Amino acid sequence: MFDVAIIGGGPAGLSAAVTASVRNKKVAIFDSSDFSPHLRKASKVYNYLGLPDISGEELMNKFVAHAMSFTPEVIKNKVIGITQGEESFTIGTAGDIYEAKTIILAMGVSHSDTMNGERDFLGKGVSYCATCDGYFYKGKVVAAVSTVPSALEEVEYLAELCSEVKFLPLYKLTQVPKHSNITVVSDKPTGITGTERVTGLSTTGEYLPVQGVFIFRETDPIENLLPDLQLRGKSILVDEQMSTNVDGIFAAGDCTGQPYQISRATGQGLTAAWSAVSYLAKKAK
Ligand SMILES: Cc1cc2nc3c(=O)[nH]c(=O)nc-3n(C[C@H](O)[C@H](O)[C@H](O)COP(=O)(O)OP(=O)(O)OC[C@H]3O[C@@H](n4cnc5c(N)ncnc54)[C@H](O)[C@@H]3O)c2cc1C
Repeated sequence: MFDVAIIGGGPAGLSAAVTASVRNKKVAIFDSSDFSPHLRKASKVYNYLGLPDISGEELMNKFVAHAMSFTPEVIKNKVIGITQGEESFTIGTAGDIYEAKTIILAMGVSHSDTMNGERDFLGKGVSYCATCDGYFYKGKVVAAVSTVPSALEEVEYLAELCSEVKFLPLYKLTQVPKHSNITVVSDKPTGITGTERVTGLSTTGEYLPVQGVFIFRETDPIENLLPDLQLRGKSILVDEQMSTNVDGIFAAGDCTGQPYQISRATGQGLTAAWSAVSYLAKKAK
């Protein structure tokens, strides 16, 4: 049981981890990638106070080293669902579940739009997790759409179960898939079609008749993680204490809206951690 589970290891999540650790809490950081691939892309960051002319990569490495000096538990896995229990929250990843008393959401923003039909067929042929749902597609033809190279492992796993995987990488594919039943399709997906369940995927090229569509992104739409969470547009609605509408869940950084900036993210991460610590203290009374 963690005191504070932080979903996302970018500037917001790592700042929250430092403050919660300083306050002697048992902290877990879930991060599905190499700690903020977004910020790592910045060749120069000019406006982070005290560290002028630093690259995003260097700044992120400093943030990671600082947070890791407190030895939080790091779980390099994507969180795919959160459920609220009486006294704690259950956090689900592709392979495991974890428990925490409070949660800080710091997932950044999804830079890719959802596909036509994606929401309509979620759970009816659309999935974000091969490990969780792949088994249901044993012997079937599925499509796998991916914006991240790291998902190739999930695509290979699908190929072990399915008769064929139509793989649409939305990035420059440099690694050839191992399984011979993976067909790489270079067309872009335009929409998921079906009636009760998925029956196909439209693309900029030919139509693909498939029984399932797996979508792999670095950050999934927020509402998939916790359906009760109140949003403002595409961002998580928070108050000044970084509290969400769900008691015990806080949010920080880009996932709470604009401006998308590092200083805002680290400041909000600190506030969210303070609020989580106060929440734990109130609960303990
Ligand atoms: C090219 C570029 C240049 C930039 N330059 C500047 C600049 O000069 N100055 C400035 O202030 N800002 C800059 N920014 C913006 C800055 O990078 C962001 O504001 C900042 O990174 C936000 O931090 P965050 O922690 O909220 O989110 P992110 O940094 O996006 O981190 C979120 C983390 O959560 C992980 N994650 C997401 N979903 C899940 C999940 N379900 N389970 C587990 N982990 C998950 C992601 O993999 C990621 O590691 C730039 C951004 C880009 C892309």
